[in-house]
Amino acid sequence: MAYNLINTTPPQGKKTPLTTGEKPLIDSSGRTINYLRLSVTDRCDLRCSYCMPERMKFLPKNEVLNFEELERLVDVFASRGVRKLRITGGEPLVRKDIVKLLEKLGEKKQNSGIHEIALTTNATLLTKYAEDLQKFGIGRINISLDTLNKEMFKTLTRRDVFDDVMSGIHAAKKAGLHIKINTVVLKDSNEKEIPEIVIWAHENEFDISLIELMPMGEGMAHRSRDFSSLKDVKTRLEQQWKLTSETFSTGGPSRYYRVKETGGRIGFISPLTDNFCDGCNRIRVTCTGMLHTCLGHEGGIDLKPAVRSDDWLNNTNEMLDHALMLKPAKHNFEVSKLDTPSTQRTMSVTGG
Ligand code: SAM
Ligand code: SF4
Repeated sequence: MAYNLINTTPPQGKKTPLTTGEKPLIDSSGRTINYLRLSVTDRCDLRCSYCMPERMKFLPKNEVLNFEELERLVDVFASRGVRKLRITGGEPLVRKDIVKLLEKLGEKKQNSGIHEIALTTNATLLTKYAEDLQKFGIGRINISLDTLNKEMFKTLTRRDVFDDVMSGIHAAKKAGLHIKINTVVLKDSNEKEIPEIVIWAHENEFDISLIELMPMGEGMAHRSRDFSSLKDVKTRLEQQWKLTSETFSTGGPSRYYRVKETGGRIGFISPLTDNFCDGCNRIRVTCTGMLHTCLGHEGGIDLKPAVRSDDWLNNTNEMLDHALMLKPAKHNFEVSKLDTPSTQRTMSVTGG
């Protein structure tokens, strides 16, 4: 089948091409994929102990897709019904000239089917980039922050940049970005601090999602020791607060609750204790063009040869048709197998 990026009449004053109309991405379990998480680098300026080892071996630079190739990917996915794009990594803001890519992607909100572009960041570079994000229409950001304690931050991330992160968060708030804090809950380190982090987030009018540690990547600290069940965390929070379930959803795995006492919203992302795979609407592509249909499975499909070919549009589309049939019904993570990683690759390679 020959695929097209179909040109339709653009909205007044907006640029062509509009990309619409091809076969939607429906996997073998009947789930429609409309959300792409695109990693633009596997490199990072932090070394969160649960995410990557201190001496991380990064992907070869010549294998990393250039901006034109990343844009091609976004165009193909948009033409197949992807409506939400999240830029991630590694740390996306460490990629050289990232602003140029963000500007180009921002334009896709005007001239493709992409309705929303979001970004996940550790906030170290937000002082520099927050206004650019706002300018290019990337209005929603997830900021990963596991502690408000400077010493604990240094221990968890192996870098002494807590003040930069706080300044970055402040700059993002000032620029008017919608902020959600993501916090991985770790037993015996930040677990006791969770109520304080939630209060801080809500006082600043940020949403917050708590995340269960997932067994990804080899050579990291003992996961069975660090793992904290969010079922238990929620039960403890309910001893001090009234949580009311919300219908609100970002189309993601977070189950949201309103906290009566703070007025804010809290999400629980519990892949191990509350499986959410039935509603999975997402797909991930790494910075080298490896497509992973599931976070918790080893398999991947290399889109790079297709994206780099002359007939990139048809070739990439054909790879997508093939990949969809391989999307597993559910992830492989299990509490009883925490010390055996489900995937060799870390979250920083997959794109969290
Ligand atoms: N560097 C950016 C950041 O930290 O926000 C984006 C990439 S990072 C891999 C995305 C998210 O994955 C972060 O919220 C991080 O805490 C989370 N993460 C990394 N490794 C994880 C693991 N093994 N289990 C659960 N979450 C993990
Ligand atoms: Fe870097 Fe994000 Fe991984 Fe931390 S979680 S090491 S900030 S990629």
